[in-house]
Amino acid sequence: MPVEVTPARNTRLGWNTTTREQLRRYLEHLLTLLRLSDHHLTVDLGEPSDECAEVHTTPGQRHVTLYLSAGFLSQPPRWQQETLLHELIHLHLNPLVHLTDAATDAVLEPAAHQVLCQALWSQVELPSDTLATVIADLTDPPTFGAAGDTATAVAS
Ligand SMILES: [Zn+2]
Repeated sequence: MPVEVTPARNTRLGWNTTTREQLRRYLEHLLTLLRLSDHHLTVDLGEPSDECAEVHTTPGQRHVTLYLSAGFLSQPPRWQQETLLHELIHLHLNPLVHLTDAATDAVLEPAAHQVLCQALWSQVELPSDTLATVIADLTDPPTFGAAGDTATAVAS
């Protein structure tokens, strides 16, 4: 099972067993769609520091953690869809930054290395946003917490 959703620390936020399972299925669907099924995704429903959603990748590893904020479930489905797509698209782009980071660490002055890596991290945001919007136009948004089962929605 490539997606594991950890129990929410605060069930008042709407992350009950049903919504967690809906999220898990929807993320598995997106990972398949994005050809990322070889990744193992752990979803942490704690409050990330300053973003609505954050994916943490480690160089050379396909085990990643996705953090979702407390307010995620109250956002519109399209926003949820683009946000999840954006974070998963990072799994395609982050290795480029990790590789550049490792390859230039020993050959650049520390300040230059830091500027380069910060610029690269900032530059992967634009294609992540653009591709998330494009793919969201072509796929169904999630229906977390809605009546019924998202399995039918994501299977279409
Ligand atoms: Zn991003």
